[in-house]
Amino acid sequence: MIAGLMTDASPVARRRTFAIISHPDAGKTTLTEKLLLFGGAIQLAGEVKAKKNRVSARSDWMGIEKERGISVVTSVMTFEYDDRVFNLLDTPGHEDFSEDTYRTLTAVDSAIMVIDAAKGIEARTRKLFEVCRLRDIPIVTFVNKLDRESRDPFDLLDEIEKTLALDTAPVNWPIGRGKSFAGTYDLAKNTVRRLDADEEATPVNGPDSPAVLEMLPPEERDAWAEEILLAREACKPFELQPFREGHLTPVYFGSALRNFGVRDLIDGLAAYAPPPRGQDADLRRVEAEEPRMTGFVFKIQANMDPNHRDRIAFMRVCSGKLTRGMKAKLVRTGKPMSLSAPQFFFARNRAIADEAWAGDVVGIPNHGTLRIGDTLTEGEDILFRGVPSFAPEILRRVKLQDAMKAKKLREALQQMAEEGVVQLFLPQDGSGAIVGVVGALQLDVLKERLQAEYGLPIDYEPTRFTICRWITSDSRQDLEGFISKNLSSIADDLDGAPVFMAASPFSLRYDEERAPTIRFSDIKDYQ
Ligand code: GDP
Repeated sequence: MIAGLMTDASPVARRRTFAIISHPDAGKTTLTEKLLLFGGAIQLAGEVKAKKNRVSARSDWMGIEKERGISVVTSVMTFEYDDRVFNLLDTPGHEDFSEDTYRTLTAVDSAIMVIDAAKGIEARTRKLFEVCRLRDIPIVTFVNKLDRESRDPFDLLDEIEKTLALDTAPVNWPIGRGKSFAGTYDLAKNTVRRLDADEEATPVNGPDSPAVLEMLPPEERDAWAEEILLAREACKPFELQPFREGHLTPVYFGSALRNFGVRDLIDGLAAYAPPPRGQDADLRRVEAEEPRMTGFVFKIQANMDPNHRDRIAFMRVCSGKLTRGMKAKLVRTGKPMSLSAPQFFFARNRAIADEAWAGDVVGIPNHGTLRIGDTLTEGEDILFRGVPSFAPEILRRVKLQDAMKAKKLREALQQMAEEGVVQLFLPQDGSGAIVGVVGALQLDVLKERLQAEYGLPIDYEPTRFTICRWITSDSRQDLEGFISKNLSSIADDLDGAPVFMAASPFSLRYDEERAPTIRFSDIKDYQ
């Protein structure tokens, strides 16, 4: 379906790979559903919602998801609209999953920021925006729930500009709000879209034309005329370049629930959002239009089917064409790997991908060969950067209820760590494994999964450590000296890299000052 579409544009130029960032409850799920409907990826509204309620067999593997009603897994949905192939990467909704979300955002080229019109910028939106800003990801803003009582549009634009330091360019303007919300006015095209009228936008003579005024109750018409005049004078027009550089956001007002403004939004995304961008690797930058296939793994999802220990590695194709059955080189190990059954994901099902292009995300089934951050190429020895690991903020020792199963636990922890559920630290003094997480919920996820998938009941014990840092040095001798002097505070991470653990930020600082040739880092690039 995807390969067969007739078009002039190159397959890469047609791709738009994006995520939706928002605070819980702003309307991400509802908007996702409406976007997929436009793309014909699902037939009935409500299917994404059904997934949220955790009734589908696919998500049953994790009781915790059902209990808490949150989305723990990151997935990808592909759909076509207006000659474009959209890859929507779903980011986990809960704030505890910032690492996973962060990694997902390394794989997108643009993002839709959904804001609740009554609430404005909320904590999580802001945090996710900051992650996008690190890579200058262009942001399209959707102000949602205009059908409810909402804040003044100027106020909302002002808040975006001030709190995010991001210029705004409203594309349309709400006609009325809350109960009197009747539609939107396109500021550049002078067209009107009516709520509940599924038709093309109608051209009008201007915002004060009778056709527009009649949409509002008489007592609101003067205020509207004044407001729209001000909007046209005071607001910046949309410009492509500052948008693509991440400095300016086009703003669409609408209501996902009423499926209003969503078409304008997706049209905007199709027209303005960038095609797949080049990606930095250690030795050079790889451009999306290069002919040879490269890609990196940003997410591993294991045990989607608990009966088979299958793992899906989600890989973003960065350049070239991936074809089913091709041989790729896993650069970390130098070994070849046959991509015999790469998969595309749609709203509910998966399908074998015969070919995928830069910007696409494919699922690669494997039995533990692939890890987060891995680079696959057609032979070139390059490693993509920028899928980082953050120093965990919580450290716990894992206590096994049945000591006979220590070996099995070690294997299970290794797998969970490879999948990115937790980070695993093996103390050099031989004491029990320590797991580290950024958010506490991940500890519950680990416990639940060890029980459900491996039959291993565990408990957690506090450790005396609260903080850890990866340590490196230009002098191997200094590093080895530091390690042997502090052996009881050193652990190896999953890749065998040394980690220094401290009891408090204060004691960490103390040790840092006494070891000037050692670098203490709270971020590690996966390699
Ligand atoms: P998420 O947590 O961001 O995925 O938010 P949901 O899409 O689940 O929406 C949260 C709630 O807001 C649900 O009850 C939706 O029905 C409701 N909602 C979403 N969009 C709109 C909208 O445009 N108008 C109104 N009135 N409610 C909405």
